[in-house]
Amino acid sequence: MKKDSNLTTKKPGNGGDKLRQSLNPQVTVPGRSEKALARRTAILEKLKPVDFISGKPVFVVPSTTVLNLKSGFSHKLLCDGFTFTAGSACAFSCTFCYVTTLLLKNKWIQQILKQTGLEFSDIVVRRQSPMEQLRKQLTPRGKAKYLDPADTRVIYASPLVDIAANMELVNETAQMCLAILELTHWQIRLLSKSPLIAKIANLIPDRFQHRMIYGLSTGTLDDGVAKAIEQGTGLVSKRLAALHTLQDRGLRTFGMVCPILPQADPAAYAARLAEAIRVDRCEDVWAEVVNVRGPSFTATHDALRIAGYHEQAELLAQVSHNTDRREQYSRNTFLAFTKVVPAKKFHFLQYVTRDTAGWWRDHQHLGAVLLGSSAGSAATSRRAA
Ligand code: SF4
Repeated sequence: MKKDSNLTTKKPGNGGDKLRQSLNPQVTVPGRSEKALARRTAILEKLKPVDFISGKPVFVVPSTTVLNLKSGFSHKLLCDGFTFTAGSACAFSCTFCYVTTLLLKNKWIQQILKQTGLEFSDIVVRRQSPMEQLRKQLTPRGKAKYLDPADTRVIYASPLVDIAANMELVNETAQMCLAILELTHWQIRLLSKSPLIAKIANLIPDRFQHRMIYGLSTGTLDDGVAKAIEQGTGLVSKRLAALHTLQDRGLRTFGMVCPILPQADPAAYAARLAEAIRVDRCEDVWAEVVNVRGPSFTATHDALRIAGYHEQAELLAQVSHNTDRREQYSRNTFLAFTKVVPAKKFHFLQYVTRDTAGWWRDHQHLGAVLLGSSAGSAATSRRAA
């Protein structure tokens, strides 16, 4: 295939080596007064990595919020507008990750990237004292604010990072879940690309399990394809095994089939995926194609090609620069999944335009969830169970 001029050859994440080469201990600190200088120095001091996870330097930044009560994730029906996160940049690196485009304006991220010369996918960013912050937000002025037993809304984690990338993060997530379970009556939806999510389940007492919903995300059943476009994540086969373990324990689970690459035979592909995640055992199933976000298409295409998945890369290339084909890819994928996932539990996330919104609106009854500024009020008209 002819190489497109926009296509890059970057593979995600080699932060550790790059950081060691680029970090300069002599930081020039601009400032008008001694006080400003001291404050700035203290801030920059915090931007030094405290650790490495999967070869990526870990930075800890000050933050006053880990709980977001007005999240856009309610539009995706994953929660009732509540999310929590202890991090801002993930330990994993996926070519299709949407978080980059969300956080590049964040002042801490900007400082870290500027100071180190690294890219967003090369760093891990954690928030300082997330447990303290969470407890503070749940108990303003020392009083628990969300103790109404009728308030069983769903909170989702994490909108920005994987919650189970290693055992330290597993323990951190479990502790945060316990605080929420004790101080509210909310239900918690957790999503991960790591089989270690099953370890979080082990740390949640039985009396709370009816309020926990666990999901493992993958858009492919092929360990090799996943390895090409994701770095650091658990093998797909192990993710599915973890999902089955959770289901066999009788715990609540949901499916997250994302991102689904273009397929030569979408119907056969949907059937295989539905069987693999055991649709009948999932409360809900979300699905999504690869979205155009920054360099996501080109980075995913290149990673597939470099790893030798030429047919898959070619199929992606065919839709990447043609809006009509991209729309057809979304519709074909959606229609294929409607045959294998019951409408009442299906949520196909689709960013729509003024031109395409009508078709998707006509298919909401089958599970289409309209996203983006052209979605109008349609996006929230159908809720997950
Ligand atoms: S696991 Fe999720 S948040 Fe982390 S890099 Fe991949 S897509 Fe982004």
